[in-house]
Amino acid sequence: MIPQDVHFFRRERYIGGMLNSTVVSRINVTPELMILRVRPDAGVPQFLPGQYVALGLLGSAPRYEGAEEEVEAPAPDKVIKRAYSIGSSPDERDFLEFYIAVVPSGVLTSRLAVLKEGDRLFCQPKVTGTFTLDGVPEHKNLVLVSTGTGLAPFMSMVRTSATLLGARAITVVHGVRYPQDFAYAEELGTLENTSKGFAYLPIASRAPEGWPGRRGRIQKLFEEGVLSLDPDSDHVFLCGNPAMIDELEADLTNSGFVVHSKKTPGNLHIEKYW
Ligand SMILES: Cc1cc2nc3c(=O)[nH]c(=O)nc-3n(C[C@H](O)[C@H](O)[C@H](O)COP(=O)(O)OP(=O)(O)OC[C@H]3O[C@@H](n4cnc5c(N)ncnc54)[C@H](O)[C@@H]3O)c2cc1C
Repeated sequence: MIPQDVHFFRRERYIGGMLNSTVVSRINVTPELMILRVRPDAGVPQFLPGQYVALGLLGSAPRYEGAEEEVEAPAPDKVIKRAYSIGSSPDERDFLEFYIAVVPSGVLTSRLAVLKEGDRLFCQPKVTGTFTLDGVPEHKNLVLVSTGTGLAPFMSMVRTSATLLGARAITVVHGVRYPQDFAYAEELGTLENTSKGFAYLPIASRAPEGWPGRRGRIQKLFEEGVLSLDPDSDHVFLCGNPAMIDELEADLTNSGFVVHSKKTPGNLHIEKYW
């Protein structure tokens, strides 16, 4: 018979082994938005810009103070996992970067919100996803449209030098609610000033009166002709809030864009976050 404490140590070692990565830095963009850099023990895996991994924490991990009460608490010894787009370039071999919105009622993000430098978490070793530039001809323009943290896969793409090479134009559209939600504005602004053909269009739906930037929903940029798209020359990527994606998908398919899938290659690429 195996003594009880052996079971305990095996269980502890098993659980410890599931947490296979360390937080190397955390930036609080706002109280609800964070940029987390994570170093997997096994090293940064190979991946393509636009792909994602699952991050996870045990059900027993603490939730942030002020999180909405859980209807049902998760099992304490199970790892809660959710998908997160990688925001860093595959050229960055020291860490994976993630851009995460804290959902007050959320099962995992209410726990991720407590993480600090040095803490352990699960990071799925296998990277997945087809929301990539794989198969997009180099001469096609890229229009990368995101809401909120849907910007993450596009950061990975534009931080990868191969994406910026060639004669293509690249436009990054970032729709948020408040101007303080524009994480990465400085980096994207610098790219706009230094890379030929690169444009950054931030737009805030709830910006205060008198705010000097663009105000409104992303759809406004299309309605007002700020963005005019051509299915012959452009590939459009939509990422983030499903309501924005559904609306633009309907408009763009009416204008001749074809939704991309493995079976039917197209010029409209879609990644819904929920
Ligand atoms: C392929 C893929 C990639 C993803 N990449 C990211 C990413 O890079 N960053 C990120 O923050 N999330 C990302 N998500 C969403 C993420 O997987 C989780 O759904 C999210 O973090 C909420 O998890 P939770 O357990 O806290 O909430 P749950 O308890 O699972 O509740 C889910 C609810 O949270 C809300 N929600 C989910 N995602 C978001 C979000 N991003 N912003 C605001 N509200 C949201 C929705 O109302 C959704 O119904 C991605 C999802 C997919 C499918």
